[in-house]
Parts: sequence; structure tokens; C-alpha cells
Amino acid sequence: MSVVLITGASRGIGAACAEAFARKGYAVAVNYRHSRQLAEALCAQLRDSFGVRAVPYCADVRDDKAVRAMVCAIEQQLGEIDVLVNNAGVALSALFTQTDEQSWQEIIDTNLSGVYHCCHAVLPSMIRRHSGCVLNISSMWGEVGASCEVAYSAAKAGVIGLTRALSKELAPSNIRVNCIAPGVVMTDMLSGYDADALEALRQDTPLMRLGTPADIAGAAVFLCCDDASFITGQVLGVNGGMV
Ligand code: NAP
Repeated sequence: MSVVLITGASRGIGAACAEAFARKGYAVAVNYRHSRQLAEALCAQLRDSFGVRAVPYCADVRDDKAVRAMVCAIEQQLGEIDVLVNNAGVALSALFTQTDEQSWQEIIDTNLSGVYHCCHAVLPSMIRRHSGCVLNISSMWGEVGASCEVAYSAAKAGVIGLTRALSKELAPSNIRVNCIAPGVVMTDMLSGYDADALEALRQDTPLMRLGTPADIAGAAVFLCCDDASFITGQVLGVNGGMV
């Protein structure tokens, strides 16, 4: 059975990815930072519904040591990781001139350095086995930039650059590295938006609806499956046509 590690899988897009991979028979490592109860409940549901192994792992992706300890535990309990989905992320809505260095650092550490830490911990095993798949969750704001989300846009643009460069470095090791750049997706990340703001975003989206976590999860499973075996270094926009 193949093993997938999904970071930030306690809720939102990560939880939908966990369900989509479990549906395909993967053993799922559900990473979270704070939401232990949600992660445990999700794992119980995946075990019951799909008969797969599903285990919650607490680790802050900003913390290199914690990530390494998590990957060791996964390798011992579930086996070596075949697919890494770097999904954990946080957003920040603020004017650039009012973004202090601590906030800037938190956004970069979580969204970009977190990807570095997880790749560093997981890749040695993939390289040794000459097989594996990495999927990074960026954002359409990493492609086109968003006003009042400069730190987030910079971090997510970094994830796109990392994806493209790492894919070239790892292709000789038969490891594919791709990226999804979601549009506006209904999760807790949008909790700061009121109904009018969400309606404006909906109307700005050519398909005239906001995305669901399942929209992203479907694309994630596709990019990591054998049907996508000749796809690497790509950024797939899943955004209802907005970019
Ligand atoms: P969400 O509902 O807010 O969930 C965020 C997830 O990330 C949670 O599982 C959270 O864990 C985890 N997380 C946050 N910081 C972490 C850390 N330092 N270490 C480990 N886990 C951490 O967000 P979402 O909307 O599903 O977003 C998922 C990804 O999609 C993010 O990378 C986000 O930037 C990207 N994205 C989202 C949208 C959107 O419109 N929603 C659009 C474009 C891109 P806890 O529950 O334990 O806190």
C-alpha cells in the first residue's frame, strides 16, 4: 500500500486531500499543528470508510526537528512515504507598510520554509528508492500577486519557484514535483471575509462559484497518480478561470 503524508490535513483542503487519497487506498499520515481532535476524528473516519491506515501526526512545519521526528515516526508506523503533499499554510491580510517583520517571517516560515523542511526530511528515502511524488499547494496569488497579501503572495511565489527548480533536480531520480495554485476555496482561511466580499469574489470568478476543498483534492490525486507520470515541474491553476 502506498503512503501519503499531507501537511495541514486536519481541516480544509488538506482534509479533503486526505479523504481523496484514502479513497484510492493510500495509507494516510494526517499532519496538523493544533487541531488534534479534528485530525483524530478524520483518521477514524478514513479507517472506517475506506479500510485504510490513517494516523494523525502533530508537527509544526516551521520546526525542522519536529518535521524530522514526524517523518521518522511515519516511516516506522506506516512505511516509507511515496507521496508528499505540502499543503499546510497560513494567510495574512494586511497593508505591506503595516506588516511587521515577525508577521512577515511567520508567513514565509510556514508557507515556504515548511515546504523546505518537509522535502528535506522526505526526499532521501524517495531518492534512494528512485521513486516518489511531491505536490506543493501554492496559490493563484503566488502567480499574479494580491494587494494586502504581499507576504503571502511572496511565499506562494517562492513555492512555485521551488517546484520548478526541484522538479528539474529530481527528475533524474524519477521523482515528480508539481504544484497546484488554487483560486478562492471555501475553508476556514476565508473566515475573515464577510458575505459581501465572498459574493464579490464569486462574481470575479468566471465559473461563477467559489471552489470547494474537493475541487483541489481531485486535482491533487490526479497529479500524484500514474496518469500524470509524464507531468513534472508544472503549476496547475484550479481557480474557476480567475487566472
Ligand atoms: P485552513 O482551512 O486554514 O487549514 C490550514 C491547515 O494548515 C490546518 O490543517 C492547519 O493545522 C495547518 N497548519 C497551519 N500552520 C501549520 C504549521 N505551522 N504546521 C503544520 N500545520 C499547519 O486552510 P486551507 O484553506 O485548507 O489552505 C490549505 C492550503 O491551501 C494552504 O497552503 C493555503 O495557503 C492554500 N490555499 C488556500 C486557498 C483558499 O482560498 N482557501 C487559496 C489558495 C491557496 P491546524 O488545524 O492544526 O491549525
